[in-house]
Amino acid sequence: MSSTIQTVGSPAGALGDVRAWVTERHGGVSPAPYDSLNVGTHTDDDVANVEENERRVRTSLGLGRLAKVRLVHGARAVTTREEGHHGEADALLTDDSSLALGITVADCYPVAFAAPGWKGLAHCGWRSVAAGLVEVMVKSLANSGVPAPEVSAWIGPGIGPCCFEVGEEVAQQFAPQHIRTTDGPRPHLDLAAEIFGRLQQAGVDENRITRSELCTACNTDRLFSHRKEAPTGRMGAYVL
Ligand SMILES: [Zn+2]
Repeated sequence: MSSTIQTVGSPAGALGDVRAWVTERHGGVSPAPYDSLNVGTHTDDDVANVEENERRVRTSLGLGRLAKVRLVHGARAVTTREEGHHGEADALLTDDSSLALGITVADCYPVAFAAPGWKGLAHCGWRSVAAGLVEVMVKSLANSGVPAPEVSAWIGPGIGPCCFEVGEEVAQQFAPQHIRTTDGPRPHLDLAAEIFGRLQQAGVDENRITRSELCTACNTDRLFSHRKEAPTGRMGAYVL
């Protein structure tokens, strides 16, 4: 198999000079069920495989200095100009144009942010969204001098309403219009629509929000889906 790395990327110009990518699952060295481009450290995959996969991704995408966090499904965002690990959080922000930001995903939505002089990346699973991570990102940028109308955002691939079955106690935490009850006995959450709505309510112009529309669980030939496949690998999401 070719070792070329495929990505799902933000549309050209959607984030100004900032680019965002999510790596697809092929072109790595991990065996099943992590086959093959698994960049998730917190899996039972061999660490040496994950390191080789990450090396391939960083080379392919030209990620030099890279900042990361240990994801905990909360609403904390770290602002930094330093590469390396930054502890427990679910988002990163920087005003250093040469610093890349990275998280891992497999159903949770990666949401990339761009604004004059700034970029950000948030790991938006339902817990983080319910805890207010989308609003934290917009507020953090505002506190740094970037008003919401100047912010652009890209919602990457994640688990779609077609496949995201949730319990009533989870469904209750979201806007009723983002809950579908037509797909089966249990409610289905349209988390991307919820994220879109929260971005708008926080003041981001809807014309500055783009979406991938790809469902991870419907596309396991290209993407990893924790819900559909666990145990499985993790995709890398990056902004630069
Ligand atoms: Zn689906």
